[in-house]
Amino acid sequence: MCGEIEVGRCECCGKDNVPLERTYFRYPFECECHSPEHFILVRHCEDCDPIEPRETKVVFKTEDLKNPFALAFKIMQKEMRKTRDIKGEIYDVWESNLAMMIYDSVPNMTADRANEIASKWLDRLFKIGEQP
Ligand SMILES: [Zn+2]
Ligand SMILES: [Zn+2]
Repeated sequence: MCGEIEVGRCECCGKDNVPLERTYFRYPFECECHSPEHFILVRHCEDCDPIEPRETKVVFKTEDLKNPFALAFKIMQKEMRKTRDIKGEIYDVWESNLAMMIYDSVPNMTADRANEIASKWLDRLFKIGEQP
């Protein structure tokens, strides 16, 4: 709130010409309209508790929708970047599974070397370190 009071129609009870408060509902999902988190803004009067909408519209590029794999990959890529350095998170789990697979199937492999290969492979696959 920065001093200025918005006046208008309450989105909850429909009363008009009332001072409005703003409540944001945020979702951990990146769409094309807001970055990096999708949110819904509800403008409501002081008498109303804001109600979280049952539905929300998110925006995708049409181009991406034609290729759902690309879309899924983008989401995965984001998660991977986010969890790159967190133990027990997605990246770590993928990395240790990959490393184990390499370690088990390649003769004379050391655990350190297997980890290193797994990590490099994941970084390259998900383009970690490059700008999105
Ligand atoms: Zn109201
Ligand atoms: Zn959005």
